[in-house]
Amino acid sequence: MINRNDILKAVKEIVGNHLDKKLIIAGNWKMNMTISEGKKFLTEMEETVSANTILIFPPYTVLAALSTDFNKQNIHYGPQNFHYKKEGAYTGEISIPMIKELGCDYALVGHSERRTYYNETDEEINKKAHAGVKSGLNIIICIGENLTQRQSGEWKAILKEQIKKDLAEITWDMFSGISIAYEPIWAIGTGVSASSEEVKETHAYIKEVLKDAFGRTVRLLYGGSVNEKNALEIGSIENVDGFLIGGASLKPDVFKRIIDQVS
Ligand code: PEP
Repeated sequence: MINRNDILKAVKEIVGNHLDKKLIIAGNWKMNMTISEGKKFLTEMEETVSANTILIFPPYTVLAALSTDFNKQNIHYGPQNFHYKKEGAYTGEISIPMIKELGCDYALVGHSERRTYYNETDEEINKKAHAGVKSGLNIIICIGENLTQRQSGEWKAILKEQIKKDLAEITWDMFSGISIAYEPIWAIGTGVSASSEEVKETHAYIKEVLKDAFGRTVRLLYGGSVNEKNALEIGSIENVDGFLIGGASLKPDVFKRIIDQVS
């Protein structure tokens, strides 16, 4: 049984206490959950109260079927992807007006699985960023390096390049609609998160790059094997403004415990 006070004490000694901040806690369900499974999840999430912002990115079917239920709870929700064009001959795609009609106010952009399996490029991600923000969506852009790039020390250049390309021509006034999720590819779905030192160093670096390039930063989430054992420690690190959670967001009891720990 995890004792919150013991963890908090240990965490404060290591990284200092930065939990007097409002976090974004986002769950990415990927290609998981039928409508009935999503419904059950939401029922079990009922009465979850948090001062933090809770987001869920379910499959489109669940989004459409449960949008009214989402609205009843204090959860924001949105798609895991969208097309930057409003309509047209783009088989298999979904547009911003379609998702906004459901009441979505957040959307995920450029997840590494989309970059890897669907060859999504930084140029496309940039177009989605422009279209998303212009239409009033809050978007979370995912960036991250692979294991070889981490081990070779190339990660700084990779992240800088992604930031530069993904946020190209984004103007100062558009920044409030943008968050970034730093998701080291080697930590996604592996059960091994980046260490606190790696998260601390990388988040400080990303914020510095943003400040240098744009004169301001954005909210910066960490993603990669966040679970109920490491959430408090990672959430306490300076420059961590929230989490993007895959596997551990699929079980309501686990997701709830993560939310409770950092609330
Ligand atoms: C993700 O896919 O965004 C993710 C962080 O997954 P997991 O939490 O399972 O590593």
